[in-house]
Amino acid sequence: MLSFEFATATRVIFGAGTINKVGSLAAESGWRALVTSGFDLERSQPLLRALAEFGIVSTLFRVAGEPDLEAVRTGVELARGQSCDLVIGFGGGSAIDAGKAIAILATNPGEALDYLDVIGRGQSLRVPSLPFMAIPTTAGTGSEVTRNAVISMPEKGIKVSLRSPLMLPRLALIDPELTYSLPPALTASTGMDALTQLIEPFVCKQPNPLVDAVCREGMRFAARSLKQAFLVGSDLAARQEMSLASLFGGLALANAKLGAVHALAAVMGGMFGAPHGALCARLLPIVFLANTQAMKLRQPDHPALGRYAEIAGILTGDPEASPEQGASWLDELCRELQIPTLREYGLTSANFPEVIEKALSASSMLGNPIQLAEDELRAVLEGAL
Ligand code: NAD
Repeated sequence: MLSFEFATATRVIFGAGTINKVGSLAAESGWRALVTSGFDLERSQPLLRALAEFGIVSTLFRVAGEPDLEAVRTGVELARGQSCDLVIGFGGGSAIDAGKAIAILATNPGEALDYLDVIGRGQSLRVPSLPFMAIPTTAGTGSEVTRNAVISMPEKGIKVSLRSPLMLPRLALIDPELTYSLPPALTASTGMDALTQLIEPFVCKQPNPLVDAVCREGMRFAARSLKQAFLVGSDLAARQEMSLASLFGGLALANAKLGAVHALAAVMGGMFGAPHGALCARLLPIVFLANTQAMKLRQPDHPALGRYAEIAGILTGDPEASPEQGASWLDELCRELQIPTLREYGLTSANFPEVIEKALSASSMLGNPIQLAEDELRAVLEGAL
């Protein structure tokens, strides 16, 4: 019997130039905004001016890199101290996740550790978040429509997620023009993150027909436009399709499972502080091949094998393409996008046992279509080195 759930942001507004509506849209939710952003001051100035034109008082909170517990704590104090009634996350996944975490913790008692699993006390968040608007300026994470916020803990070498249905944004405002300024390397790594988030939910252990539809279409967008956005950053059609791919990836990941790429990338992101998208990119073609080989060997009737062939067809444009050809297409794309090897982020074979042990217990690994053995994961890491 089919049974599934699909949850997303309350409202999604997409389109080139839609950032111009931000003042009136924000005014529907509040008058005192905490705006979380990356460190670049200049990028957030037009947003702050637009909010001011509508009489919205803004407090800017800049977050350097991925938010850690300290950044979130400071942001919550700021939001409470300034009596903010609205939080706006403006930037890449890091700025959006910082805003999302601050918005929910500003209304709930205690601190992030009370609500985090494994490393924290695992309580449920019960009080609705402050209204949260997400405005992405990268095209990769889809965090504008997801219910989690990734928080880094560099002192422990791990990344954790604060998670609750109450964290779904009130509004996702997606303007592809905001991504024009992304340099090629960031276009490449964030775009590969989007593609991974479209592939892993499609082959995961808990597929969902709504997610399937979103993934099929999203993969087409990324296959058609990622290389072009990398080569010509001002190509609106390509940027538009990458923003759509990112949005669709977020819809997919919030409503299905992920897999081995995300399990390994989450662990190595925590251990080496390497960019999430670049890690996903490097691992994606290798895990794609490892999963198909493992299924052919141990479970040749596995339904995900047909899905891998379908992905290969979508990526290559050849409906007869094999999963192996799909993996080669991804590998070639990584080469064209100049995706760095894992060695460049400091991984060596001495780290393999720790990475494998942590990845095997990562929640994303539970979604992988087939359980990969330790030697198979070792071969993946060797291939990505
Ligand atoms: P990011 O937010 O860390 O940004 C990377 C860099 O790009 C930063 O220096 C930022 O200032 C810069 N940048 C952002 N927009 C720019 C623009 N338009 N022009 C030029 N530079 C720009 O990177 P990201 O890949 O968007 O986000 C990564 C984070 O998101 C990681 O912590 C990852 O774990 C998390 N994530 C969260 C979810 C979720 O659902 N919550 C999903 C996937 C990933």
